Amino acid sequence: MSGIVIDHEKCILCRKCLRSCPVSALELNDGRIRVTDLCNLCTMCVDSCPKGAITMETAEAAASDSSGIWIYAQFDDSGLCKVSCELASKAAELAEETEAVSERTCEVTALLPCNDRNMAEQLVSCGADRVLFCEKEALKNGDPDAAAAWVVSLVRERQPAVMLFPATAAGREIAPACAAMLGTGLTADCTALKIDPESGLLHQTRPAFGGNLMATIICPGTRPQMATVREGVFSVHRKEPGDGCPVPGSEAPGSRMEETAFPDSFISRRSIKNVLRDAGDTYDVTKAEKLVVVGRGIGSKKNIPLMREFADRIGAGFGCSRPLVEAGWCEYPHQVGQTGHSVAPKLLISIGVSGAIQHLAGIAGAEKIIAVNTDEKAPIFGVADCGIVGDCVSVVKEFLKS
Ligand SMILES: Cc1cc2nc3c(=O)[nH]c(=O)nc-3n(C[C@H](O)[C@H](O)[C@H](O)COP(=O)(O)OP(=O)(O)OC[C@H]3O[C@@H](n4cnc5c(N)ncnc54)[C@H](O)[C@@H]3O)c2cc1C
Repeated sequence: MSGIVIDHEKCILCRKCLRSCPVSALELNDGRIRVTDLCNLCTMCVDSCPKGAITMETAEAAASDSSGIWIYAQFDDSGLCKVSCELASKAAELAEETEAVSERTCEVTALLPCNDRNMAEQLVSCGADRVLFCEKEALKNGDPDAAAAWVVSLVRERQPAVMLFPATAAGREIAPACAAMLGTGLTADCTALKIDPESGLLHQTRPAFGGNLMATIICPGTRPQMATVREGVFSVHRKEPGDGCPVPGSEAPGSRMEETAFPDSFISRRSIKNVLRDAGDTYDVTKAEKLVVVGRGIGSKKNIPLMREFADRIGAGFGCSRPLVEAGWCEYPHQVGQTGHSVAPKLLISIGVSGAIQHLAGIAGAEKIIAVNTDEKAPIFGVADCGIVGDCVSVVKEFLKS
């Protein structure tokens, strides 16, 4: 693992490093300068030392030193977030792929920042072999610094090979902090993950260069290999009892849960007084099993009510492409795509959407796609199961007459 290393032979205890550290991560203890868990590897102390006694050691963990696939499980007021279950299921697939390469057992571990047996059991049923939890007010309150400190202390102790985070607002804060503290890499917003059958490395695929190509990124030199994934990118596969999941009555309830300690040295830089919920449009486009997604081809804002009426008639949710949000025709929660939401409905009806790569990145999980577009060469037809070439407003009006 990486970190700040102090050569006590060279150190003259001038204390310049103590003054240089912006997060007070260095302390003078028993006549020696020591680095605490607060360190975020900013390397200000390295530059401040007049004797060159402080160095930054980069992690070069051999693949054989680390093992297991870990996920960070997020919850909110309504319980375990769906993305946590999706990550547990994906981690189980990656563990199987790892076992095929290494011929060694690979465990899936979920990190749950609260003590909740029901959530732990859901994680086990979705693919986790073990749930490490910690009961701490700061974790329950969603303090990302506390979460990062807890994750980092466990990673340093147990050295997982892979660590996956949800690409939620919280996950996007916790994952980079962990990556910086551990001195390892992080690939954000992955749309595909797989274990390379040759090297055993995690292949992390995500859109790059404005979404114009898909890049597969590896992290060969440091551990863990870390990635974030948005909700809806992977599906949830619940295990049957006996298929790695406890047979009812065969295990003591909660026996896969292990309580872990919270790092003593942690001092929060913030105090959370109140959590305010977004008072705006809180629509969740990812939850719809049927979804109507409209694009610029609908012509104007005045056609939005018509399209919404169509969606309501067939009991579908309502999504849109990015230009409609930019033009103020729809709110952001409805945006589908790379910078919007990833959706995985059973049926998606795409209306007047061209199918740009950044849009397609968000609908890859849809089971069946029906597209309506005047241009028979529109890329959306390349991914559609059924296409209607024609004016979408007329097609929808015709449907509503029936
Ligand atoms: C970094 C980055 C991130 C992005 N993220 C996203 C994202 O998250 N989501 C997203 O959607 N886009 C995103 N984009 C934008 C994306 O590149 C496209 O510009 C956008 O998806 C196009 O939206 P559209 O298909 O609605 O509009 P257009 O590309 O203008 O396509 C309109 C389509 O409607 C058809 N049409 C026209 N008239 C009719 C009619 N009467 N009936 C039927 N069809 C008709 C046209 O043939 C055309 O195919 C992103 C771009 C970048 C660079």
